[in-house]
Amino acid sequence: MSPVSADSQIGVVRTIKALRARVDAWRAAGETIGFVPTMGALHEGHLSLVRKAGKLSDRALASIFVNPAQFAPHEDFSSYPRTEAADLEKLHSAGCVLAYAPGPDQMYPPGFQTSVRVENLSQGLCGLSRPHFFGGVATVVCKLLNQVRPDIAVFGEKDFQQLQVIRRMVRDLDIPVEIIGGPIVREPDGLAMSSRNAYLTAEQRVVAGKLNRVIADMANALAAGAAVGRIVADGRAALESAGVDRVDYLEVRSEADLAPLTDGRVRAAEPARVFAAIIVGKTRLIDNWPIRREE
Ligand code: AMP
Repeated sequence: MSPVSADSQIGVVRTIKALRARVDAWRAAGETIGFVPTMGALHEGHLSLVRKAGKLSDRALASIFVNPAQFAPHEDFSSYPRTEAADLEKLHSAGCVLAYAPGPDQMYPPGFQTSVRVENLSQGLCGLSRPHFFGGVATVVCKLLNQVRPDIAVFGEKDFQQLQVIRRMVRDLDIPVEIIGGPIVREPDGLAMSSRNAYLTAEQRVVAGKLNRVIADMANALAAGAAVGRIVADGRAALESAGVDRVDYLEVRSEADLAPLTDGRVRAAEPARVFAAIIVGKTRLIDNWPIRREE
């Protein structure tokens, strides 16, 4: 093997053993570790989390693993974009010093049979049409946190329900890590960046770009005191007339426990968000927008 200078290329480890050797050495030197789990096909949204992890810790580490356990048989596991070489370059330029890219044998060896379920927070929103999803996410994130043992782990608010599921899991299972949220990074027209945006045709991309405007307008109206029921009905109509093929859900929920607000008005004392999932063509897109009510 030819020696590679540490700062010209990112290190890649593919086994728990190799990962532990690197991480244990950092820890022995008194360094803190910031971790960003991803499924690859990286974009600026992911990289913003890596930069945040780098600011808040001595060593930023990212994982790339397309987790089969969070895809249903009819979903896009086999066609999910896999772009490892480009991902590694992007991670390196964002200050990530080590990438962990385990094979399925490391994550789900023969005989594997344990799963983690976060009960209430996993129901509703994405849990309704993807009942298997948060169990798959919680299990793999629990494993990754145990494998890496980071001081902090950073997750995007793009997947706000996932962020709250992981916060709850870490609290409930006493996992010694601080979970940090990062804001949603958007394209110039406001579309939330997503690895799945690559599936959209030019025509569908225009429709997808309208989602953020609709939920931002809803959040503004709710912040000004409009009634939830009417604003959700108007928002649904706006999405349908924008050319969305199906609205999977459009809801207002509290941030802390994701309790649904179906009637009445949003209160300043209880921060809430508009949550949406839509289908455009064959692509499912999610987004959310905070409602900031001043009273
Ligand atoms: P994924 O690779 O889609 O599993 O996402 C890995 C992490 O990146 C998750 O914590 C996501 O919430 C986060 N993420 C994905 N898209 C964005 C975005 N547009 N802005 C901020 N974070 C994001």
